[in-house]
Amino acid sequence: MKLKITIAIDGFSSTGKSTVAKQLAKHLGYIYVDTGAMYRAVALFALQQNFLVNGEINNHDLIEHLDDVIIDFKYNPQLGFSEVYLNRVNVEHKIRGMEVSSYVSKVASISEVRKKLVALQQELGKSKGVVMDGRDIGTVVFPNAELKLFMTADAEIRAKRRFDELKSKETIQVTYEEVYRNVVERDRLDRTRADSPLVKANDAIEIDNSNLSREDQFEKILNLVKKIV
Ligand code: C5P
Repeated sequence: MKLKITIAIDGFSSTGKSTVAKQLAKHLGYIYVDTGAMYRAVALFALQQNFLVNGEINNHDLIEHLDDVIIDFKYNPQLGFSEVYLNRVNVEHKIRGMEVSSYVSKVASISEVRKKLVALQQELGKSKGVVMDGRDIGTVVFPNAELKLFMTADAEIRAKRRFDELKSKETIQVTYEEVYRNVVERDRLDRTRADSPLVKANDAIEIDNSNLSREDQFEKILNLVKKIV
C-alpha cells in the first residue's frame, strides 16, 4: 500500500498556495483543506452578525458567539475541490471579496478563533493523505508533517495575481493599489501576531515562485513528494 503523508503548505498571502495544493491533492488522490477559507468564514460570520464597533470587529462579541459558527467543506465534483460552508450555506464566493479580506487577519489573531479552527483542521487531517495550506500548518497544526513548504514571492507580483483574479470575479470595482495594500497589511498582521505568527518552520523548504510558472512549480514540488513517498 502506498504511504500517505501530510503536506503542509504555508507562506505569505496570494503566493498561489491553494493553486498548488489543489493540483497536488488531485494528483495524489489526497484531501485538500484550505484553512484560509475557514478564517475567512469566521470573519464573514462576524460581519453578518454586525459585530462591529467603529468599523472594527468586536472581539468580545465574536468570542461569545463562536459556538454558533459551524464550518464544513463539501466536495464539488464540477470544480474538483471542496467548498467551504458557513452554518450550512456555501460561502465560497462571498469570503473571497475585499470586505472579508480586510477583516480576516484581525479575526485570525484572536486565540479563541485559532483554537477552534486548529482543532477542526487536526481532525480533518488526522488520517493523513492531506494537503493543507495556511500560515501555521507546519508550525502548529501539523508540526510532524512529512513535507513542509514555505511559499514566497515579491509583493507586487502577488498583488498583481490577486488583482487579476478579483477583477475577473468581483462585481464591485477594486483597484490594484487596494489589493496591494491589503496583501502587505495581511502579511504584516500575520507575521506580528502573538498567537501562531507566520514563520517558516525550521524544516520547511522555501519556494520563491516570483519567476516560476505553475507547471514548473508543480513539477518541483511533486519531485519533493516522490522523494518521501
Ligand atoms: O489563505 P488566505 O489568504 O485565504 O487566508 C486569509 C487569512 O486567514 C490570512 O491572511 C491569515 O490572516 C489567516 N490565516 C491564518 N492561519 C491560517 C490560514 C489563514 O491566520 N492557517
